Amino acid sequence: MPTADADAMSHRRLAVLLLLLTTSLLPGPARAAAGDPPGVWPLSPPPRVVRGFDPPAAPWGPGHRGVDLAGAAAQPVRSALAGRVTFSGPLFGRGVVVVDHGATRTTYEPVAGSLPVGAAVDRGAVIGALQLAGSHCWPAVCLHWGWRRGDTYLDPLRLVGWGPVRLLPWTGTAIVTPAATSAARTPWCQARGWACW
Ligand SMILES: [Zn+2]
Repeated sequence: MPTADADAMSHRRLAVLLLLLTTSLLPGPARAAAGDPPGVWPLSPPPRVVRGFDPPAAPWGPGHRGVDLAGAAAQPVRSALAGRVTFSGPLFGRGVVVVDHGATRTTYEPVAGSLPVGAAVDRGAVIGALQLAGSHCWPAVCLHWGWRRGDTYLDPLRLVGWGPVRLLPWTGTAIVTPAATSAARTPWCQARGWACW
């Protein structure tokens, strides 16, 4: 029946269109840019991302210059990439460890560093222990993980290819974020009743 065939065809076209539309609205994989070095999560097992990257529009502007990873007090913190420890000690009331990788450097806080400045580290090497004091997630424990090239803040989730997108229901009190930032994701989240930033 020509009419039935035409209907079936249009349904198939509609299904394909919906599939494409739905797929295009899903958070995409890997924001990793070409040339990003492959790194490892600084916490093991791979942690929950409790706050994503929100770089400031201006050097001193508001924002979130890294990502926050849920962890536990005293949990080992690992260097995301091979490099050399260039800072390990208290800074503004919290322990900070900085590892230089040549073109970039990664930062970890609040962390009680376990290696001296100048120590060479392999990718995944333990550089210290996670602390509560100075937590961005107070009273919860979390690691603030940063990545910089010069004075430019980068999204450290690029080092692990793709941050896990973990969307939690909007509770009215907690603000929950997907792993990476994207202005396009805000309407995507809102359409699902989620809160994102
Ligand atoms: Zn933070």
